Amino acid sequence: MQKEKVVIIGSGPAGLTAALYTARANLNPVVISGSQLGGQVAITYKVENYPGFPQGTTGPELVELMQKQAEKFGARLVIDEVSEAHLRSGAPLIVKTYGETFEAEAIVVCTGAAPKRLGVPGEETLIGKGVSFCATCDGFFFRGKDVVVVGGGDSALEEGLFLTRFANRVRVIHRRDQLRAGETLKRRAMSNEKMSFVWDTVVDEIQGDGKVEAVRLRNVKTGQADVTPTDGVFVFIGHYPSTDLFKGQLDMDAAGYLITDRRMMTSVPGVFAAGEVQDPVFRQVASSVGQGCQAGMMVERWLAERE
Ligand code: NAP
Repeated sequence: MQKEKVVIIGSGPAGLTAALYTARANLNPVVISGSQLGGQVAITYKVENYPGFPQGTTGPELVELMQKQAEKFGARLVIDEVSEAHLRSGAPLIVKTYGETFEAEAIVVCTGAAPKRLGVPGEETLIGKGVSFCATCDGFFFRGKDVVVVGGGDSALEEGLFLTRFANRVRVIHRRDQLRAGETLKRRAMSNEKMSFVWDTVVDEIQGDGKVEAVRLRNVKTGQADVTPTDGVFVFIGHYPSTDLFKGQLDMDAAGYLITDRRMMTSVPGVFAAGEVQDPVFRQVASSVGQGCQAGMMVERWLAERE
């Protein structure tokens, strides 16, 4: 059992910022990476709205810089996933990874969110065989192919635009006739000649034998259904918080987001949370960094008050 002052669960922008602040307060935080080092932004191609980078940057570059900065002040990154957390009754707070067990005086939960699935036949079995939730990861495999993107938010358009670098044709399937995405992305997507839009339409099934071959679409206004051939299906319909580990231990809202107070503390004393795991509203790198900073400062204050 490793005894630590602070354990941070998750290594996205919120986790790495909480690590930076607690490291600079001499608390030698341990950061448990989770399955995706750097979190969701690490698989985001372009980041243009994070202050300080007027030319824009990439997700991998941004998290590498954040990691280096936290490590420079004494944060220790553990590449592993949390398998169990025992937080319900407060101290001692125990977190187990597959390789180690930690007892911590304070914990910051920064486990973020994961992509929502459509829940239609064919989706689960064809993941990695044409069904994807990450254009940056898989776009390369669709050079010269036809793909569909499902969703009408910023992610769908941003990732769809990225896919136009590889694919011949990117069709966005949206369940309404108005996009949720912001104006800049909307303008860019609408003027990209490789992109087109299928309005008021949902995917009822993804078809294929060993790889994606077609989608069964249905117009929600007319009810008309048809089978459209495609090589790939990229799903960007939002996220759900990664809080399964904490069910029954930390208070959550109806959608599963952790509930925190103004100090970023959860329902258990000494357990804080930051980033998308407790934020269904803002969900930006900049807002996650802000919340990570707040949680890091509050951890330091909370530990100091107890001494
Ligand atoms: P989102 O804004 O929640 O959009 C999800 C989209 O998927 C919506 O268009 C929604 O349709 C559709 N959808 C939801 N469930 C569906 C279902 N079961 N079947 C079909 N369609 C479904 O999610 P997001 O695009 O991932 O963005 C999340 C947050 O991150 C937002 O705050 C966004 O601004 C931010 N973000 C920002 C950037 C950027 O600034 N560059 C990039 C990416 C994300 P309806 O519109 O009908 O609800």
